[in-house]
Amino acid sequence: MFINMDKITIDGLEVFAKHGVFPEENILGQKFVISVIMYTDTRKAGITDELEYSVNYGEVSHFIKDFVEGHTFKLIEKVAEELAQAILLKFDLLEKADVKISKPWAPIGLPVNNVSVEISRSWHKAYIALGSNMGDKKAFLDMAVKKLDEHQLCKVIKVADYICTEPYGGVEQDMFINSALELKTLLTPDELLTLLHEIEAAADRKREIHWGPRTLDLDILFYDNSIIDTEDLQVPHSDIQNRDFVLIPMAQLAPFLRHPVLNITIKQMLEKLGDR
Ligand code: ADP
Ligand code: MG
Repeated sequence: MFINMDKITIDGLEVFAKHGVFPEENILGQKFVISVIMYTDTRKAGITDELEYSVNYGEVSHFIKDFVEGHTFKLIEKVAEELAQAILLKFDLLEKADVKISKPWAPIGLPVNNVSVEISRSWHKAYIALGSNMGDKKAFLDMAVKKLDEHQLCKVIKVADYICTEPYGGVEQDMFINSALELKTLLTPDELLTLLHEIEAAADRKREIHWGPRTLDLDILFYDNSIIDTEDLQVPHSDIQNRDFVLIPMAQLAPFLRHPVLNITIKQMLEKLGDR
């Protein structure tokens, strides 16, 4: 958990590289100027004076140079996206990175000083609900945990105990195994939902009866403090407060997590549900 969001900045690093939409740009190359703001907690490095507790800006600068020289993309949007991701994956202590790619010699046939793209990317914390009530239920949950952890842009931080629960929603069916996990991810909520659907499909999930039996159900419970209400995705997941099979595993992972809409904690929701 980060207490301080301090910044370490690399400003105006010049690299000669070959990104561009025009074929000549990919052959001749040109100057790119890169600035990166890295967000990390420098408190421990500040107290101990030891480099191992911080991000080595020299090392990051060389990493940027090698990365920008070593790839050829058409768009500086793509350079920025890939570079931000590579930096966040490579340097563990970073929580967030702002990346600015400038192209002072951009061939646009007009006297312009500079063009640039600036983006901000960070790790996100999501909680995922897991459920199965068909076939080898435990194996389906294990498979989901493994697939999420193996994804390049995800890391499983904690998995709650698997619990056995009664079916929900009024359809006659077998008992469930449920759990929840904490995930660190660079995926957006939509991308994460797509990944969950792919993993469900790999477990041979068929969408037949609503609330009916399923080999694997993966839902996004929370994504940071985000509130999302689109046709395909509602976050926090609907009805969390009424589902003990969600609240019990969540209480193990994050009892004091506060529901951003209801404004009460997991523990309070579980207590309220128990009282009924
Ligand atoms: P359920 O999980 O309610 O039993 P499904 O797993 O069949 O039902 O999901 C139906 C749809 O719910 C998905 O296609 C997805 O678009 C939508 N959905 C909305 N919000 C979420 C969420 N937070 N997590 C997962 N799916 C969601
Ligand atoms: Mg679902």
